[in-house]
Amino acid sequence: MRIGVLALQGDYMDHVEITRKALQTKKVSGGVVLVKDKDSLKSIDAIIIPGGESTVIGRLLERTGMLEELGSIIAGGLPALGTCAGAILMAKKVRDKVAGEVKQPIMGVMSIGVLRNAFGRQRESFEMELEVGGYGRIRAAFIRAPAIVELWGDARELSWFEHPEIGRVAALAVEGSMIASAFHPEITGETLLHEILIDMVKR
Ligand code: GLN
Repeated sequence: MRIGVLALQGDYMDHVEITRKALQTKKVSGGVVLVKDKDSLKSIDAIIIPGGESTVIGRLLERTGMLEELGSIIAGGLPALGTCAGAILMAKKVRDKVAGEVKQPIMGVMSIGVLRNAFGRQRESFEMELEVGGYGRIRAAFIRAPAIVELWGDARELSWFEHPEIGRVAALAVEGSMIASAFHPEITGETLLHEILIDMVKR
């Protein structure tokens, strides 16, 4: 199994490490492909879109001619995991907490709406334990994270928490073979989301 990790900007190397660990845990033979151009899209069984800066990753996706192509192969069933900025790029609706409506290139494949920078700036970053529906608890890092504020159609919430100021926040969503997390599982060393992605390839 070949898992692609989009390697244009952001913390993709952490995902490479966690993906390898998840493949080992699941006893699946395979490896990681660093995706930097359209050609590498042909050889992968799943894609991970890392955290970073969604505006920058979006622009680089455009520049490499991958924005539309990657969006359409994900919409066509390629299993995909987007974390933080990656979740923003997968969402159909994006707003920014401060700037409101923003024009930025996104793939717009998942029936979720996200609010960028929902919890404030870097210094408002936090870590917490989250219950992931049916799977148990994991440790999650929220770094200039978005909140998933809307889900419709086939999108389902897999995890949520009560934020002291914002209230109930959805942190993890799935729809078909797509997973979007507001947090970084790779920073806290959690392999669960990557294992769920591997299961999506197998089914
Ligand atoms: N705040 C970033 C954005 O809006 C996401 C941050 C992250 O991926 N950790 O794109």
